[in-house]
Amino acid sequence: MKISIASGKGGTGKTTVTASLATVWDKPLLAVDLDVEEPNLHLFLHPELSADTEKAWMEVPVLDAEKCTLCGDCVEMCQFKAISLMISTLTLYPDMCHGCGGCMAICNEGALGKGQRELGTIYKGRVGGTRFLSATLRIGEAMSPPLMEAVKKKMEDIISREGRDAVIDAPPGVSCPALCAVMESDVIVLVADATPFGLHDFKLAWESFSPLDKPMGVVINRAGMGTREIYTFCRENAIPILAEIPFDRKIAEAYSQGRIIAEVSTELGTIFSSLQKNIRALAAGDEEEVGHA
Ligand code: SF4
Ligand code: SF4
Repeated sequence: MKISIASGKGGTGKTTVTASLATVWDKPLLAVDLDVEEPNLHLFLHPELSADTEKAWMEVPVLDAEKCTLCGDCVEMCQFKAISLMISTLTLYPDMCHGCGGCMAICNEGALGKGQRELGTIYKGRVGGTRFLSATLRIGEAMSPPLMEAVKKKMEDIISREGRDAVIDAPPGVSCPALCAVMESDVIVLVADATPFGLHDFKLAWESFSPLDKPMGVVINRAGMGTREIYTFCRENAIPILAEIPFDRKIAEAYSQGRIIAEVSTELGTIFSSLQKNIRALAAGDEEEVGHA
């Protein structure tokens, strides 16, 4: 089972929920940080990283000017304006290339060969029995989904080899990277807070991910702060509330020290154990079993 922990905006506590869930999970687990622009799951899980870090690459075209007849077919083919033809000069812009391969396939002269663009670095590690994967986007790289896809491929390899569940820390928001992260998940858990801004972004996330037609529930963080509007919205839209994490100074202190909040107190440990059970029930379609808050 793959569980994505997502949120409509940053700062909801998504990463601390992911880290805490990883510590209470009842089966062999792989914890994955897919927020490759700003990975921070390692700050809470403190994994022991292995030495075999890897660069991830994307295939991009390279021009052999001697073979090029300046026919312009590749310029027409590229939907991303990554190739231009001006007077008698063909120019490639590899940073704008999406790696579709269309230009290389269409060039009858064989003037476009295969080159590579570095996307970033992938890290592997362990926290006790839990495996860990994360990545950092290369500085200057504009697109995170290709690197995320490379991490997801490693995730699938580990899952199929070792039969682990995976908990994924998704990028915040509802743009392409967030959708890329949750796309193949079995369950989406949205982390939201009960403030008016929190509700606005939670609604955006709910509306954006709903067409994927996956089991989805919410964790309300800093419960007790803000208004009750988020509860009304969840009730009206039959969105299961999987857990409520109280607004508590001890949690803020643990967060600032990079500690796992499930380990702060017995009460918080119980909340996360119950969240884990609720996620399993949601994945199994047993909505009746989900302990509504
Ligand atoms: S399709 Fe090939 S030959 Fe035509 S302009 Fe592009 S690189 Fe040159
Ligand atoms: S591989 Fe695709 S995106 Fe990249 S330059 Fe060629 S046509 Fe454009």
